[in-house]
Amino acid sequence: MRIGHGYDAHRFEPGKPLMLGGVEVASDVGLLAHSDGDVAIHALCDALLGAIGQGDIGQHFPDTNNVFLNIDSRILLREVYELVVQQGYCVGNVDLTIIAQAPKLASYLADMSACLADDLNAEASQINVKATTTEGMGFAGRKEGIETHAVVLLLSNAE
Ligand code: MG
Repeated sequence: MRIGHGYDAHRFEPGKPLMLGGVEVASDVGLLAHSDGDVAIHALCDALLGAIGQGDIGQHFPDTNNVFLNIDSRILLREVYELVVQQGYCVGNVDLTIIAQAPKLASYLADMSACLADDLNAEASQINVKATTTEGMGFAGRKEGIETHAVVLLLSNAE
């Protein structure tokens, strides 16, 4: 088995939909990024790439390439998952922690889990998505942006 960790943060930007875990969350502000800004998927991609020793999301999908401008991050996730499959692994489980003071995410977490499970050929029960605030501390606490930590365990298909 292989383990990987990922982290990402993006600042809020008005006038963009807020995409998190592949789900559109009701919000006045989205996240500034070259892609759709889905910080949860970016952290997950980095965890998957880390687990297979394939660098990071910036190396695979550089923000200097306009092919990836405003791209749906689920497309990136599916490409990363293809690399995981090519290396002979499947997803054991995923654990995501989204850190956001606002908006409230509790009612979206199950949809995110189902959405990500779909892209990773897994069951929703293997993809845990949780959210927390920082009680007003730091940049997330000041509502300047959102961050996500991701941990993934991959299982070898060979055994
Ligand atoms: Mg990112």
